[in-house]
Amino acid sequence: MIKYKLICKNCNLIFDSWFASSVEYEKLNKKKFLNCHNCNSNKVSKTLMAPKMINKNQKSQEEYQIKKIKNISKKIKEFQKFVKNNFNYVGENFAYEARSIHYNKKRGKGIYGSASKKEIQELKDEGIKVESVPWVDNKDN
Ligand SMILES: [Zn+2]
Repeated sequence: MIKYKLICKNCNLIFDSWFASSVEYEKLNKKKFLNCHNCNSNKVSKTLMAPKMINKNQKSQEEYQIKKIKNISKKIKEFQKFVKNNFNYVGENFAYEARSIHYNKKRGKGIYGSASKKEIQELKDEGIKVESVPWVDNKDN
């Protein structure tokens, strides 16, 4: 359900109205099915206030989202640990090092570091396998 504040352009009455969705509102509005309670005019339109979304489970949904984010960041941290143990950190030199490995057919540990979007695209264009991974700074531990 979505709640809109509607305003009657005829008598300036502002009133709340509930709709199944924003699409439903647009539909009713187009067909001029929206009437003012006061003067029955159909010159009714949405005020510029943000609609309120109502969901009975809003709070638990928020908690669920937070939990999900915490889980994801835990997974990312585990993954980071794996990367740190198994890959060499090359920092900003990632693109250079990746090319060097690719063209010199170096074997050994993989590398990780940072590269710009442009650099990543260039590496991919050259057929060099790169993967971008989510990364969080471990400031809290
Ligand atoms: Zn009115």
